[in-house]
Amino acid sequence: MKSRPEYDAVVVGGGPAGSTVACLLGESGHSVALLERRAYPRNKVCGGCLSQKTVRFLDRVFSLPVSTLRREELLDFTGTGYALYIGSRRILAEDLAEPVYFTRRERYDTYLAGRAAQAGAEVHTGAEVTAVDHARRTVTTSDGDRYSARVIIGADGVHSRVRRTLPESVVDRKRWQNNLGWTLELAVPRREAEALVNVDGPIRLDDGLATPHLVLGTCRWGYGWVFPNREAIIIGIGGLLSANGNNFREELAAFLKSVGLSAFAGWKPAGYPLPLGNYIPSPAHEGTVLVGDAGGFTGPLLGEGIFYAHRTAELAAHAIDRHLTAGAPLAATYTALLRRRLIQELRAETALRNFLYRCLDARMHAPLVAFMRATNTLVVDAVQGTRSFRGFWRDGDLHSGVW
Ligand SMILES: Cc1cc2nc3c(=O)[nH]c(=O)nc-3n(C[C@H](O)[C@H](O)[C@H](O)COP(=O)(O)OP(=O)(O)OC[C@H]3O[C@@H](n4cnc5c(N)ncnc54)[C@H](O)[C@@H]3O)c2cc1C
Repeated sequence: MKSRPEYDAVVVGGGPAGSTVACLLGESGHSVALLERRAYPRNKVCGGCLSQKTVRFLDRVFSLPVSTLRREELLDFTGTGYALYIGSRRILAEDLAEPVYFTRRERYDTYLAGRAAQAGAEVHTGAEVTAVDHARRTVTTSDGDRYSARVIIGADGVHSRVRRTLPESVVDRKRWQNNLGWTLELAVPRREAEALVNVDGPIRLDDGLATPHLVLGTCRWGYGWVFPNREAIIIGIGGLLSANGNNFREELAAFLKSVGLSAFAGWKPAGYPLPLGNYIPSPAHEGTVLVGDAGGFTGPLLGEGIFYAHRTAELAAHAIDRHLTAGAPLAATYTALLRRRLIQELRAETALRNFLYRCLDARMHAPLVAFMRATNTLVVDAVQGTRSFRGFWRDGDLHSGVW
């Protein structure tokens, strides 16, 4: 067993959450080790959709305006509209006031880990964290290295080992399981999809395969998506595990058929869990905090997680900095920051999600369609980050810094 010198912070996991917190702490002059079990570039099962609030975050925190994101080849495709279906019925087909973008995670995550290294974080790849001792504030890797730190940050995704080693008083495991989603996703080469699309499906995808499609009713308490990339089309379904049981394979096959892409039904999809409303309200214990998927932070309506990975990492970095420099209590400071706005937003988004899926369960399609048509610009603004999910008030300050 090799003991490393003590760090101010050890970050477990080098996805968007881990790289963001490592970068911000490094920039503040703290000694940081970022431990990622895989080697970059590494992929992550993901639709790669970046809403405007994510793009604004990248500009504000990493000084990456859209022009630079393009130059760094971090944006693969731009979505200027969207289509929304319930089953095979088209409910909305709208232009977006501001676009959404699509990224490829192998490139995005590699770039961000590079930024963490530039900010002074030591990035160690290829060894998995196999043990966490919260009381002693140490983590041990599969290489047998032991890292000790004043703060441990669990940024190790939905399967988080750091979370699983926290006590029941921090993680309500029943609530976690009840709100855990499951996804299946396929990336099919664009050329092959273009040749086959609309052969036999009731949902007509656009000819250029440029429009993101969201389809409710593909599975229970979830939806199907067709997301455009430059070289590939990403097709997936995701919904609450508790509502769908083992039906996802058949549901994906039916979805592929409905969009005219049943030729790909024999392809093996990637399966991956997704937090869908199981965020942990106080994800901190002694010297440990959870960020991103490890803490269950995604938007419960769409499962958008890249933004919440960045945002919880930013709030955690602020709390950790105050803890390390001024002795502020870590868990209380981080929890208070989360509660000020973010948890309230997630709660309101959960309520909207519950209303939507209860209407679908009750087959109340007509009032639901009327509601969706009346509120779609408000909901889009809330997803893009310019309105609050609470009452849809305009709120330019919602994600604009650490309040
Ligand atoms: C099918 C699907 C589609 C999605 N589509 C979108 C989308 O379009 N837009 C969007 O915003 N979000 C989407 N999401 C959600 C998004 O992918 C996640 O919310 C996001 O990746 C969370 O980032 P993270 O940094 O918290 O975790 P991750 O990206 O999962 O990163 C965790 C990292 O920790 C590492 N790690 C894990 N365990 C250990 C260990 N023991 N030791 C060391 N390292 C470890 C992993 O290798 C990984 O690199 C989607 C998710 C799924 C499943």
